[in-house]
Formats: sequence, C-alpha cells, structure tokens
Amino acid sequence: MPILPDKTKGLQDSSVKLGNFPPKINPKIISILRSHNIKKLYPPQEKALEPVLDNKNVIIAIPTASGKTLIAEIAMIQKILDYKQRNLNKKVLYLCPLKALASEKYHEFQKKWSKLGIKVGYSVGDVDNLNFGVFRNDIIIMTNEKADSLLRNRPKEIDDIVILIVDEIHLLNDQSRGITLEILLTRIKTINPTVQIVGLSATIKNAEEISNWLGAELIKSDWRPVELREGFFLNNRIYYSEGDSKIIKEITKDPTYNLISDVIDEGGQALVFVSTRKSSKSQAEKISIQLKNKFSRKELDDLSKLSKRFKNLANPENMTKETKKLIITMKSGVAFHNAGLSQIQRTFIEDNFRNGLIRVITATPTLAAGVNTPARRVIIKSVFRYNAELNRSVKIPVIEYQQMSGRAGRPGYDPYGDSILVSSNPSKIEELAAYYIFGETEPILSKLNNSGSLQTHILGNIVMEKRTNNKKLIDFLLNTLFAHQLKHGTNIVNELPKPDIDVKTQNIRKDLKRQTSQIKGKKGRKGAKGNDPLSLPDLDTGLTSAADMYENIIKKGIESPKNEKKILNNSELRNSIGKITGKALEFLYEKEFIKKKSADNNKNDEEILTPSKFGSVSNRLYIKPYIAADLFRRLKHINKLVKENPYNFQINEITFLYIIALTGELMGGYFRRNEDDLVRANVRRCKKNIEMFTFAYDSDENTSLFDDMNILKQLFILSEWIKETPESNITDEFNIGAGDLFRTVETARWLARAIYQFAALLKNNKELLMMTKNFSTRIKYGVKKELVPFVNLKGLGRVKARILYKSGISSLEDLRMVPNVELEKISNLISKSLVVSIKNQINSKKDSNVDNNDDNEPLESFNIKKSAKKSNTIKNKKTSSKKTKKSTRQTYLV
Ligand code: ADP
Repeated sequence: MPILPDKTKGLQDSSVKLGNFPPKINPKIISILRSHNIKKLYPPQEKALEPVLDNKNVIIAIPTASGKTLIAEIAMIQKILDYKQRNLNKKVLYLCPLKALASEKYHEFQKKWSKLGIKVGYSVGDVDNLNFGVFRNDIIIMTNEKADSLLRNRPKEIDDIVILIVDEIHLLNDQSRGITLEILLTRIKTINPTVQIVGLSATIKNAEEISNWLGAELIKSDWRPVELREGFFLNNRIYYSEGDSKIIKEITKDPTYNLISDVIDEGGQALVFVSTRKSSKSQAEKISIQLKNKFSRKELDDLSKLSKRFKNLANPENMTKETKKLIITMKSGVAFHNAGLSQIQRTFIEDNFRNGLIRVITATPTLAAGVNTPARRVIIKSVFRYNAELNRSVKIPVIEYQQMSGRAGRPGYDPYGDSILVSSNPSKIEELAAYYIFGETEPILSKLNNSGSLQTHILGNIVMEKRTNNKKLIDFLLNTLFAHQLKHGTNIVNELPKPDIDVKTQNIRKDLKRQTSQIKGKKGRKGAKGNDPLSLPDLDTGLTSAADMYENIIKKGIESPKNEKKILNNSELRNSIGKITGKALEFLYEKEFIKKKSADNNKNDEEILTPSKFGSVSNRLYIKPYIAADLFRRLKHINKLVKENPYNFQINEITFLYIIALTGELMGGYFRRNEDDLVRANVRRCKKNIEMFTFAYDSDENTSLFDDMNILKQLFILSEWIKETPESNITDEFNIGAGDLFRTVETARWLARAIYQFAALLKNNKELLMMTKNFSTRIKYGVKKELVPFVNLKGLGRVKARILYKSGISSLEDLRMVPNVELEKISNLISKSLVVSIKNQINSKKDSNVDNNDDNEPLESFNIKKSAKKSNTIKNKKTSSKKTKKSTRQTYLV
C-alpha cells in the first residue's frame, strides 16, 4: 500500500475541464500560482474573477473544496499590487469564522505572497485585547469576533480597507455567531461604503437574497474539481444516487470497517464522521485493531515513528487519556479528531492525514467546518447530534451534511470521492438519504431578532459614535440583513411570539428548556398538522435549539399558503426595527450602560444617547451586556460585604470562580448525569466554608447551589487548575479533554479580567481590587498566588516556576541574585538559554511583562492604576510554606 495515494490516478481520470488565466490577472500573480502548481483556473473561478476584478461585490456560492480561497487571493493581491504601484497603502480584511482557519490562512498566504513584498498579519487573540498594530500589514486576517471588537473602536485604518473577504459567509445563519457577522458587515458597509465585498459561501438556498442585500453579483455553481458520488450503505452494498451500486466485501460485521478496508485497498484514505467524542474514540480504537494487519513491516515502522513524534508533542504533565489512546491508534494509521484535543494535536493529525501517513480519521463534525482535509471516502455514521437544550438528539441541517460530504475527493490524487451514509437503523436509511442527498440546504435567516445580542451591538454603536440617538440607531439597523428580510417578507420573526431569552444569565438554558417542553406539551411531540403557522414541526427536522425551533415554526409559517408573505412598506419597517431597538435601549438604560439626555436645542429632537463608563468598559471587554450586568451586580454585592467586614476571609477564590462560572459562558465539557457524586464531593470538600458560594448571590436572588451542576463542574475544574493540579489529573477526574480545559481557562481568564475592570469602577473598592488583581494571571497559568511574578516571565510555565520556588527562590529579586550556573543546576528543565532569557527579562524592566500585556493592566481610558498599585507589591517571602499559607488568606487572592 503506498503511503501517498497514487498520483497518476489523478485528474486525468476525472472529466474535469479547466479554464485559463484571464489576461486581466497581474503576471506576477500568475507566476506565483504556477510555482504552486496551479496551472489553470477552475471554471467557477474564471467566472467569478470577471466581476471580482471589475471591483464588484460578489458572492461566490460553490461547493466545499472547489477553490473559493484562490479567487479571494487573486482579488486581494491584484488590488494591493495596483495600489502599491500608485504608492498608496491600502488594506485587505480577511474574515474567518475560526481561529484555526485564520492561522491556516495566515501561513498559507504568507508562504505564497510575501515574495511579492506583501505583508500578511493575523489577529485572533483575546477579543478584548486591542492590538491595532496588526493594521500595519497589507492583508489582515481576523476572526469575525475579533474584527467586530476592533472595529467598534473605529480605528482610522478602517478607511484604508479596500476589499473585504468574508470566508464562510453562510455563518450569518448561525444561531449564536451569525448576528456578529451581520452587524460587522453592516458596520463596514456603513462606515466605508466603497469597500469591495467578496463573500465565500457554501451552496445555500437563498444565495440570491444575500447577494441582493450586499448589492453583490452572485456566482453559483455545483462544479467540483473531483467528482463527488453520494450514496448510502445497506446490506454490504453502496447505493449511489446515480442509481448504480457497489458490493463491499464483508470482512467483519462492522460495515464501517468494511468500507474503510475497501478504500484503503484502493490506495485511498477515509474520514469517518460520528456524532459524539466518545464514539470518535471508540471507533478509532476498534478500527485500528483491525487495520493493523494490512500494513507491511516498513509501513508499520513509519507509523511507529509517527506515533513517537505525536507522543513527544505532549509533555508528561499533559499525557491525557486521549493522548495515550492516540499514541496507540496512530501505530495503525488511525486517529480520532475532536474538540477535546489540543490545537497542536489537531494540527498534527490534519497535517499527517494530508501527507498520507494517517489513513483514517474518525471525527466529530467540527473537522468538517474546519480545515482542508479531503479523503477519497467520507463515511457519515450519524446525522444526529445531541442538543443540550432539548436534551435529545436532533438531525443536523443539510448544510452541515454537505460540509462533511464535500470533504470527499482529493484533487490530484483521487479519481473521485465518495460520501456514504451509514445508519445503525437500516429501516431509516433511505429516508435519511432522501433528506440529505437530494434535500435542499436551509435558507440563511437573520438572527437579529434575539434582543440579547442586539443589546451588545447597540451598545457597540453607542460607544463607537460616543453620542447618538434612537433615529440614527434605527437608520443603521435598516441596513442589516434582518431589515432586508423583514422588508421582503422572508423573515417574519418579528411578528411571532418568541422565547424571551432576556432572563438572568444562569437561567437562560433552563428557561429555554422549560419553554421547549411547554410547547411540546401543548402541541404534542410530532406537532399539529395543517396550515397553522405556529404548529410545531416534526422535532426531528434539523432543530438545534429552542430558538432554532422557533425558526422552524417561522419557516413553516412562510411556507404555509395561509400565511402569505407580508411585504413591509418603509414606515412599517421603521416601526418594526424601532420596536426591537427600543427594547434593547430600555435594557441598556435600566442597567446603566447608557445615559440619556434631552437634546440641546429643540424639544422635539431625539434624546441624546451616550455610554456610561460601565457601558464603555463592557464594550471594550467585549462582554455581553446581560452578562456584564450580572457580574457587576454580584461584585457590588461582594464589595458591600467586604466593606462591612474587611476581614471576611470566607470570600475567597472559590467565590470569584463561582461568579465566573455563574455567567454560563464556560463551555469546557458538559456535566454528565453520572458526575453528580463527583461534583457533590467537591462541594463537600468546601463544606466548612459553604458561605463562600452564597456570597456570590445578592439578596433578591432565588438561586440555589445545585440548580446547575455544570456551573459547579466548571468551577471545580478551575479551582483545581489554579491549585496547580497537573493537567492530566484534571482532565481525567472531570472527564474532559485538554482542549476543553484550555477553552474553560481562556474564557475564565477573560471574565476574571472583566471582574477586575468592573471592580475598578466601584467606590471604596480598595480591598476588592486587592482581591481581584492578578486573578486572571493565576487563571491563565494555573498557579497559586506566590508564582504570579514568575509566570509573568516568558519561558517560565507553572511547572518550571514551581521548581524554582521549591528550591527556595521566592521572589524575582532572589532569582536575579542567584548566579546563572546555580540556576541551571536546579533541574534539567531549566536550561542555560532559559536562564539567560529570564535574567534579561528581569534586568530589563521593559521586557519583564512579556506575554502579559493585558492581564494586569487597567484599560487605558480609566485611571485605576493608582489604587491597584498598592496591592501590586510582591512581598519578599522567604518564609516557610506554613507562613505562606497564612499570607494567602491575609493578602486575599493577589
Ligand atoms: P474552498 O475554499 O472552496 O473550500 P479551497 O480554496 O480550500 O476550497 O481549495 C481546495 C484546494 O484546491 C486547495 O488545496 C487549493 O490549493 C486547490 N486549488 C484551488 N484552485 C485550484 C486550481 N485552479 N488548480 C489546482 N488546484 C487548485
């Protein structure tokens, strides 16, 4: 079996027809493309480039892996070169939905285009870290959220953006993230109306409508570089949609393995999509045992080396259960891929799949939405996904199925790609195949009616404008997709009852669940039939949340003959937008994010809206207003308690971690029913001091500790983390992956920063500031308070910092005084070059804060430095560990 699939079987076997490079393209670009083995353009690329190079806005809706990125690349490089020739410095903004994708694009563009003197930069870091320096580059790659956060601060560089590339523009339909993209596009269009927009999209039902909204030309095509054959598997036979079939040899009773074995014998690779992480692991283990026999001695040798390289990626501390499993499965050329793995591990697996060493990946659908990993055969084992709100599995949307099936076929290697649906329930398979293989994708519907998200963006506008009014806000929102769809009657969300999700943060999920079950109760599980626009559709039809369920109700309403499209005239539209704006403003005013002032001169003028300090800080932190309001309220309450009793040591790190967890924003692995004992045991460990939890509640709150076990689970994950418990102990105890821990830590650290910034806004906050200062650094590095100054030095993580501390070095001054040779002797983890670097950092004040630029620094606009400074003195503690313990309590959290 060849390590790489047979190249000679490539394109010449398929009936692909290639176009030519249009003469309009700059010859410098063509020569780079040729050097990257791109000899001709694909037909849809050629078609799309015409309007793109004519400076028109264009939406390109073609299947996954059909070369959309290349169109964007030619468009942006051509434009930059044109401007450079005229000595003008213009910029490209490239929007990506995922951090991993942004980083992939960055490396790809950098490699390709830096030869032409084009500077590429990317910014995917913390959303509240405003690193405008990235705008020095010609091409700036960002996630949608990062761009939204930066642009809310109206950098002047936005005027230099001449072309905006929107990768995966169909994300507009995403329940939670679509609104950010919609507002971002609206904002850029409003501020810089001449910017050229190039949107890259999967094939979607209402691509035309999206193009109309953006004033764009639509290029739609089903063309693919490698033929895609879709089918389903039943009784050892693949039934292709074209009507033919193929018998697959029954080697084992497991159909998935038989399909894999077949494609591997042909020299191909396989991607297996499953619905849960657990099954991604168990499938990989099962397949790897069976597959081992297929390999020659040389191949097994290569795989064994691969497995060793993978093992070396992990330091002994993060040798998680998953890592150990992967080390074994990789020896048979099999890997699983899910969000529980760390980013480095995922990239390793993707790279080694692309180079052909890994033959099979079993993945959760996150891989499909992500990077480019085509395989000859895609096996889709489940089109159902567990939905936490509905507490049951639901069908995925057709667009998600297409993202998975679209991964079939490797250009240049595979004569064709096939995507096979497999079901454990043979009686359902034909129905599923009909739904997914022949079914139409869902339309993109604006999600802007969700007033929780609207609050965020309206606040964003008020802060950006500094001074605005209701009319201007409505004018802005009239440019959104939501208004466009409302006007044309394609999104009637506004006229139907909807879940009121503006409830207290921690109750949101509960509330959605309750409303869902109420509706279920009223209408019956299958829903009423007929033309009632509010009748509940079959719950198996692609529902992913209660809000989505409403969307389905709405869709049904649109399709119902009784419920004719209602086209709104301009004043009706204004009224509708005015209603939702009014509701959001009411909330922002009531929670003191904004101030209202009557207009200066004329009494009939609109009230002037300006942001409060709290509003500006929340906006700058990029934190949703209802979460900010919740955090602020709890902090005020704690501040009051601290003031009443400054030596109230029961308010401790658990209290603050609890406040963070109560936001409901931490998503690192869900609580499972069988983890009840685990969580309760952790609570019991804090028993002596149970008040430290209740301090988080203010008096009128009707919440009890065990209301939401996931919140407690997240809390204890974090509390172990900042106690320096080894990573693998945490992941094993709490049954989560390294990727989950990373996500929880990253979000918690951001919320800890928010807590500190909010504390700074309170009066009489000295103690509270002392308590919360550096808390985010502790969370970032997972350390006890005494290690904070050490981990702020680049190159010293929690493990090395602890080694130094244990050897008696308890301050930076100690570290500075100990001779280099002595430091090197402490442990073989403390290398000579590390010692030199540490010393340089300590000696140079400027560098000593490397990699810590934002965690302890107050926001530039507010002068909280003074009061914080007092708590910043790191005491020289050459004390026994006993004494250190005592000081932890007395100096609060540090
Ligand atoms: P999409 O964005 O549509 O999912 P990509 O842009 O990632 O697809 O393209 C998939 C692969 O096809 C990439 O490896 C890309 O380099 C390659 N590709 C794109 N256009 C061409 C072309 N004209 N000739 C050869 N390869 C191409």
